[in-house]
Amino acid sequence: MRLSNGEVLLAWPLASHIITAGWTYNDGGAHNAIDLRAALKTPVYAAEDGTVTQTQLWDGVTKTGMQSYGVMCRVKHADYKGGELCTRYAHLTELCVRRGETVREGQLIGYSGATGDCYGAHLHFEVIYRGVRCNPLNWLDSDFTVKDAATGTHLGRYTSVERPRPAAQLQKLSIGPVSGGDARAICQLADRLGLVDAGLVQTEPVAG
Ligand SMILES: [Zn+2]
Repeated sequence: MRLSNGEVLLAWPLASHIITAGWTYNDGGAHNAIDLRAALKTPVYAAEDGTVTQTQLWDGVTKTGMQSYGVMCRVKHADYKGGELCTRYAHLTELCVRRGETVREGQLIGYSGATGDCYGAHLHFEVIYRGVRCNPLNWLDSDFTVKDAATGTHLGRYTSVERPRPAAQLQKLSIGPVSGGDARAICQLADRLGLVDAGLVQTEPVAG
């Protein structure tokens, strides 16, 4: 989503957010992505509204080049500061979208798997800005855990996006006591505004 200040806050592509490999692998090698723990066939969701601009099925054998991604799709989002912003989801077992399809943030786009050059089922997630892979943790909020301490030292440099606070808490107002007629009028108004259905109005009859 785009925040009111124009910054990007991507949604986590899985319901659970456990990082199993960071910006660099634990041996220090370049990863340029994050891996997220995902059992086989875990639903994978689009990180933001966009258009599917690339899909790939795996030939079941090749583990080099683009085929190393296995079953994969790439989603192009709205430009950010004039630059193209995309996300990629790899090693899937199944795709639920086609190239050219418009997707909404949080929409199911596929299921995790272990296709391509893969050590076991997980989700490989990339953020590609202006054609360059960049640390996804700069585009996500801080709501994640890391598999172990070693992996935690390979997250790379990042600043999590701060999730905006929910709208101001509703303030509780007490009115009354009021006359029976006024009470009926207030209740009718509250009912008309849907406040009663929403459970936001309580009435306490007073004896006498
Ligand atoms: Zn990966």
